[in-house]
Amino acid sequence: MSGRLAGKVAVITGGASGIGEGTARLFHAEGARVVIADVQEGPGEALAAALGEGAVFVRTDVSREDDVAALVDTAVERFGRLDVMFNNAGVMGALGPIDRTRMADADLTIAVNLRGALCGMKHAARVMKPRRSGVILSTSSPAGVLGGVGPHVYSAVKAGIIGLSNSVAAELRRFGVRCNVIVPGAVVSAMTAGLVAGGADDLDGAERALGRTAYMDRPLRPADVAAGALYLASDEASHVTGIVLPVDAGMTGAGGHSP
Ligand code: NAD
Repeated sequence: MSGRLAGKVAVITGGASGIGEGTARLFHAEGARVVIADVQEGPGEALAAALGEGAVFVRTDVSREDDVAALVDTAVERFGRLDVMFNNAGVMGALGPIDRTRMADADLTIAVNLRGALCGMKHAARVMKPRRSGVILSTSSPAGVLGGVGPHVYSAVKAGIIGLSNSVAAELRRFGVRCNVIVPGAVVSAMTAGLVAGGADDLDGAERALGRTAYMDRPLRPADVAAGALYLASDEASHVTGIVLPVDAGMTGAGGHSP
């Protein structure tokens, strides 16, 4: 098997849709065996079947530590090792003004995005440290870097992912394990389609809506973010750890201001 991830084993959470799906497709095409983890069983199973050999789906709720522990164990049992853990599953949740925050929504947003990334890091480190090798990636957002570009609780958890990843990167570098964050801009996916188009299934509507406000010649797509993840996951980035990589058409660099 050739490719930039030849021989590697990657777990991708939120892998049934959007950025996770795009990353699963690209990593698999680059020679990795991929474990697609998601709460959405139908799309996850279908993607694994479409990719074929070297791809499996494991139903996982990342907010549940026992699910994430079993996910990592399944990757190791099935493919013999874990090289890349991509903590990408996320929900936006808890929309609306701060004084009307629905705490149940807030708790879910924190549990999926931040607790989920923590569980992923913990259990990836459990198997990567003894091998003195591995890469942990996590998905943040411009909302985690800038104020006023996303719902407040979502901003908090996405900022938290950066703090968590930077700390874990410092802790794990002496064990040969790298840990980095990706900051996607507004990407055409179910998440944005639910916000700017006719619903989570309306990806064409999201493409049109985001295209009208795109910072560059077209909106960001999952494959753009996957390409950033591929670099960070590959041996080309062997000394890149503790960074935050924006794949956002300059959104965070411009402080969130429109061109
Ligand atoms: P998406 O909705 O297409 O994909 C998210 C996936 O996460 C879905 O398949 C969903 O089922 C899964 N998921 C939700 N809760 C889960 C749980 N508890 N356990 C396991 N899986 C769960 O959206 P996307 O745009 O691909 O989002 C991927 C990541 O990128 C998220 O963390 C999101 O916050 C982040 N992000 C997205 C954008 C954007 O504009 N789309 C921008 C910045 C960051």
